[in-house]
This record gives sequence, structure tokens and C-alpha cells, in this order.
Amino acid sequence: NWKLHPSSEAEAIKLARASDAKNVVICPPFPYLPTVRKTLRHAALGAQDVFWEEQGPYTGEVSPAILKNFGARYAIIGHSERRAWLHETDSMISEKVRTALMAGLRVVLCVGESKEVRRKGLAAAQRFIAAQLKQDLKYLNSKSYALSSKLVVAYEPIWAIGTGRPDKPEEAAAMARFIKKLLTARYALPAPKVLYGGSVTSANARRIFSQGEIDGALVGGASL
Ligand code: PEP
Repeated sequence: NWKLHPSSEAEAIKLARASDAKNVVICPPFPYLPTVRKTLRHAALGAQDVFWEEQGPYTGEVSPAILKNFGARYAIIGHSERRAWLHETDSMISEKVRTALMAGLRVVLCVGESKEVRRKGLAAAQRFIAAQLKQDLKYLNSKSYALSSKLVVAYEPIWAIGTGRPDKPEEAAAMARFIKKLLTARYALPAPKVLYGGSVTSANARRIFSQGEIDGALVGGASL
């Protein structure tokens, strides 16, 4: 997730080349999608957001169909920065998840609790995440298996994003286990995938993922 970086196309090409590997998804700002698509040989392309309608009077928005036409296979939805700065609600996010999945995009749904919630303990954080998932996935049900198999949940505790202070490996793993159980119980997903995001770098990744429960990382700052 490059967020709002870089500021030139030449830098975007350099960054894309540096991370072009299998099992990597690169999510640049929208205008760089065509350039990054042309540059990549191994990594997949994703967008940092997507709108919940395919067409209409929605100034500034980008639809799943447009993203697919420009080569994006993934869309991040519900990033905490968008929830905070753009006031995206769980209701908006649930619409985005529905439209994106129906259009055939793979969705990386971000969920995460605030510091205030986490201070009350892991169980309180798990209750928060369960409620958030319930709202964000309100259009999924156990019959929409084909759709939900295109869903990846990224557990991103807000207090760990961009702070240089990742979650403890055991607690991140416990949360991933919790989310997987919940996805299986609620939506009959046999093998849900959960990523961890929040200050992952090449220096700490091995330690964070040492518990084996987490399927990958959502990397912001270190992807630059
Ligand atoms: C993110 O952008 O979702 C993220 C986790 O950022 P960072 O890696 O910088 O904490």
C-alpha cells in the first residue's frame, strides 16, 4: 500500500520494479495503475479503494469495472486512514465489499481497533473486530461462498499503523486465529486468509509472523 506516494511516475516505476515478486500485490494511487501494470512481471496489481456503484453522478469516484479495465485484481477496502480522514462508515464499506466482490475483484478488507479499545485487553479488541466484521460483511452469507473466497481480511490495529510499534506476535496471531474461526462459523469459509498490518518491515517481519497463524502482511511505509 503506497498510500499517497510517490509524487512522480519515474519513482512509481522504480518502486514497482523493486517489489515485483510473486505473492505480492502492489496498490499504488489510481493514476499510476496503467504504468505500474506495464512495469510488473510477477506481482499483481491492486487499488487502495473502490466505489460501491458502477456508474453515475459520483464525482471523484472509481468503479470496480474501471479498476478491472486498468488491470487491478485487488482492492483494499475500509483502510483505517479512509475511515478516519474520509469518514467512511461500516455501512459504506459493506456496500463497497459487496460491489467489488460481485464485480470479481479480490477484496482486502481492513479492520482494526483503536488504542482505547485495545487498552481494555485482547478480548475487548476481539469483540470490537467481531462487530466490525459483522457490519462490513453484512451482505455476505454462507451461501455466497464463491464471493467470500475472494475475500482477505487484514487485521490492522490502528495504533500500530505507521507508528513503528507493531502488535506482539502472539497477540496478532491470536487475533488472526479469532478472525478465521469467525469467518468459518459465520460464512462457512473453509480456509479464510488473514493478513496482519501495522509497522511491518523487513527487519521485524520474521518475528511478527513467527507464530504461523498469519497468512501475509499489509505493508504501508516499508513498501516505499
Ligand atoms: C497500512 O498502510 O495499512 C500500514 C499497515 O502501514 P504501515 O506499514 O506503515 O504501518
